[in-house]
Formats: sequence, structure tokens, C-alpha cells
Amino acid sequence: MQTYTAIIIGTGFGGQAAAINLKNIGITDFLMLERRAWMGGTWSQNSYPGAAVDVQSPLYSLSFEPYKWTQMFAEQDELVQYTNHVIDKHKLREKVKLNANVSKVQWDDDKQLWEITTDDAGTFHAKFLINASGPLSTPVIPDFKGRDSFKGKSFHTNNWDHNYDYRGKRVAIIGSGASAAQVIPAIAGDVKSLHVFQRTPHWVLPRPDRKFSPLMRSLLGSTLIYKALRTAIYWTLESRVIGFKYSKTMLNLVAQRQSLKNIKAQLHDPKLQAAVTPEYTIGCKRIILSSTLYPALARPNVSLHTKDDGIAEITETGIMTRKGQKLDVDLIIYSTGYDATDGVISYPVIGKGGRSVQDAWSEFPRAYLGTTLPGFPNLFVVTGPNTGIGHTSAIFVIEAQLEYIMRAIKAVQSKQAKSIEVTSKAESDYTGMIHEEMKKTVWKTGGCHSWYQSKSGHVIAMFPGFSFTFRGMAKAFKPAHHIFR
Ligand SMILES: Cc1cc2nc3c(=O)[nH]c(=O)nc-3n(C[C@H](O)[C@H](O)[C@H](O)COP(=O)(O)OP(=O)(O)OC[C@H]3O[C@@H](n4cnc5c(N)ncnc54)[C@H](O)[C@@H]3O)c2cc1C
Repeated sequence: MQTYTAIIIGTGFGGQAAAINLKNIGITDFLMLERRAWMGGTWSQNSYPGAAVDVQSPLYSLSFEPYKWTQMFAEQDELVQYTNHVIDKHKLREKVKLNANVSKVQWDDDKQLWEITTDDAGTFHAKFLINASGPLSTPVIPDFKGRDSFKGKSFHTNNWDHNYDYRGKRVAIIGSGASAAQVIPAIAGDVKSLHVFQRTPHWVLPRPDRKFSPLMRSLLGSTLIYKALRTAIYWTLESRVIGFKYSKTMLNLVAQRQSLKNIKAQLHDPKLQAAVTPEYTIGCKRIILSSTLYPALARPNVSLHTKDDGIAEITETGIMTRKGQKLDVDLIIYSTGYDATDGVISYPVIGKGGRSVQDAWSEFPRAYLGTTLPGFPNLFVVTGPNTGIGHTSAIFVIEAQLEYIMRAIKAVQSKQAKSIEVTSKAESDYTGMIHEEMKKTVWKTGGCHSWYQSKSGHVIAMFPGFSFTFRGMAKAFKPAHHIFR
């Protein structure tokens, strides 16, 4: 069995950034394991029509890899080009094993190594294990009554079947979150009919997108200008935390009013206006950025079904609604999201004494800096509990976590130790602080139920504060919070 200094699970931006950071500290003896037949994560996987980032691209990019974006909010194909540019530039293809679905990882306390088992790509040993398997990478399809009896075509947005031609077809889309809001306008004009099943409406704000002119693109080639634009975007987005955490009045005045105005301006049917207007405070669920969703919902071939007219049953030919309407459709698109909290690591992780992460998280997922857990030496979870950020780029937080991870690894090396483990006290103080701070946020008090919450009711997906606060904590590595062996 081959032993590596480090193994990284996943090849999205988290895995890529981890690999590049390892190289930067002189560790080249590492392997990346990827369950798909390709590298890239989120944007290589999510190729549904309309897929695009909703954080401005100069910020939604690795800090050390600027790019001459063609538009402010890059679309999926450009994000894939960027991903491949990063992978090729840093020679990561030679470090990866594809089609390697990790099925179990186990700590061997005698050897002070992780044993990583894949379905059929072999078993490996590694000193350090970096899990970058993604916060939104395992799709969920609820167990609707009759789901498997449907004889037409169906797929999740995460797994779009491009061999299926949806044009001219009768289509139903289940879900109305961020992915659905991108798919609906992208396909509404091409399908015969579109039934949208919305359980809870989302607040929607216009998307301030713009194409970059050739001049602007060439300016983006200057590191100085790229940095300046990135910084300006960063601070504009960061100011949203004031609303999310400290001032409901500001949220109301700045965002909720604008969103209400948008509804009135784009939808003229009072019934439709009421159906898309949320009852909770803006920000409680992820805010959708779209200038095309409402016009699509107003199209004559599009029908919006709210919760009271939701899905009673899926039949062989389509959907039976709660109001008893029988809708025959050719295609059902599941835009039903991901397991972002309780099941975020989709394979068993067995630590010291045979205790699993799943056991450690039976109450709710928790980790020091969202990254390390007592009882799991040398394990680092990228985008772990409470590292999500609704207002800015997830890549910023990934890079902040890597500041901590690299400092931890360097500390093990400089002490010539075999392992590092966060103390129970440091983890429980950190988690206590997180959930105390969370009480002040709109995610806790905004009156919604969202995928940010685990089954315990705790908000797990989000960090309750400014992203620079998180980064500051991640950079200030505290040896006293850790045990070295
Ligand atoms: C549709 C969509 C839109 C998004 N839009 C935004 C946005 O606008 N702004 C933003 O900040 N964030 C957005 N996100 C969040 C996004 O997940 C992060 O921005 C970022 O891409 C996460 O990178 P990652 O490497 O952690 O995870 P991912 O990109 O999900 O990569 C994880 C990788 O791990 C692999 N993997 C998982 N399990 C295993 C296993 N058992 N064995 C081997 N490999 C495994 C997966 O196949 C995948 O390649 C979006 C997510 C989705 C799904």
C-alpha cells in the first residue's frame, strides 16, 4: 500500500487550493482522489442551462490566480475554463487519481496514519488527510410518493443530461432555490410548458451583471488593477454582514424594499406577486440574484405551484398536485439541493478509538475553525461546519482555512511530530462562540427554515460574522489549542 505525506479528497477549488498550498510549503508527495472521471468540482459538475456564479468573478477566483474574465458574473463554461487553467498551470493533473470514490477513511493510531479506501481505485496511507469533498456536492432528491414510478425522463440539476432535448417538451421543475432560478429563465422560452413547484419563495434582487469590454479585459491582466477591483468588490459585499447580523433596519431599507419594488415592477398579476413574496426577513435564506426569473415566471407557458398546490404524488405520467390537478409531463427536473449540513461528508470517517465523525456530529456538525475535530488527528475538513458565507466568495473562506491547515502542517514538521489534534476544549469554546454569535444573525432570527440549518435546528452552513474575522482567526495559529504527538 502506497503511503503519501498528504491525500486530498476532491478536486474542486478546495482541492486545487490545498494542492497548490502544499506545493508552496514544499510538500510534493501528495495524491488527489476524485470520484468523477474529471477534475474541477462544482462547475465541472453543474452544467445545467443558465448555470453561473452569483459572486463577482474577480472575487470568486483564487487570490493568486487572476483571470481576464469576459463578464462580471462568469457563466459555467468560463468557470470550467478558469478551473482547467488553474489545474494545468499548477500541473495538478499528474497528481490525481480519477474515478476514485472514497468509501471510507480510518485513522491508524499505531502507525499515526490515515488509511483511505476507495471503491475500486485502491487503498492508500497518508500522514495528513485533507477532505475537500465539497459543501454542495452530494445532491438530494426527496422521497416523493411514487417517485420511482415516473416513466418519463428525470434528473437533478447537478447531473444534467445533455443528451436529452428538452425543447418543445412538457417540463416540471421541483424547487425554487438558486439553481432553479437560473434554469427557469434559461429554458422557459424553449419548452412547451413549464410547471414550477415552489415550496417557499426566495427574496430576489436584480443581478448587476455586465460584459467586460476588450479594454477592460486587458486591464484585468494587470495584477494591480485586478487586486483593486477585487478589493472594491470584497468590501462592498462585506458590508452586507452589517445587515445580516447587526441591523435588520438596514436589511429592510436597503435590500427588502428593493426586492419588493422589483416584484411590482416585473410582475403585474397580483396573485403571482403574492405567490413570490416571502414572509421571512430577507437574507434568512440565500438571496437570489436574477433579473430574468420574474419575467420567465410571467410567461404564458409557465405555471407556478405554491406549497398549497404542491406535489401530492409523482405518477407514471407526471405529477398529481395537492389540489387534485393531474399534470402530464415529459421531464421532471429536481432542483432540490444538497445535504449541506448533517451529511456533508458522504463517507464514513473513523478516528481514534473507532469513533466516527458521523458519531461526533450526531447532535450537530461542529469543528474548530470549521476544520479540525478532537479525536481525528491530522484530518482537515475544507468547507466544514460553519464556514459557509452567504454574502461573499466561498473561495475566500477556503483560502482562509488553508492558512490554518498549512500552519498546522508546518508546526507538525517543525516539531518533528507525527500528528496534530485540536483539543476538546479549544473546539468546544470555538463552537460555543459560533452559536452564541449566531443568535444575532438573520439566519437564526429571520423566521425561515433553510438548508443552512441542520436537523438539530442549529445553523451549520454559515459563519456568523465578517469573512475577515474568520480569516484573522485562521491565520493566528495557536499551538496551545493543539496536541502534538
Ligand atoms: C450550483 C452551485 C452554485 C454555486 N454558486 C456559488 C456562488 O455563486 N458563490 C459561491 O461562493 N459559492 C457557490 N457555490 C458553492 C461552491 O460549492 C463553492 O463555491 C466551491 O466551488 C466549493 O469548492 P469545493 O472544492 O469545496 O467543492 P466542490 O467544488 O463541490 O468539489 C468537491 C469535489 O469532491 C469530489 N468528491 C466528493 N465526494 C467524494 C468522494 N467520496 N470521493 C472522491 N471525491 C469526492 C466531488 O466529485 C467534487 O469534484 C455554488 C455551488 C453550487 C452547487
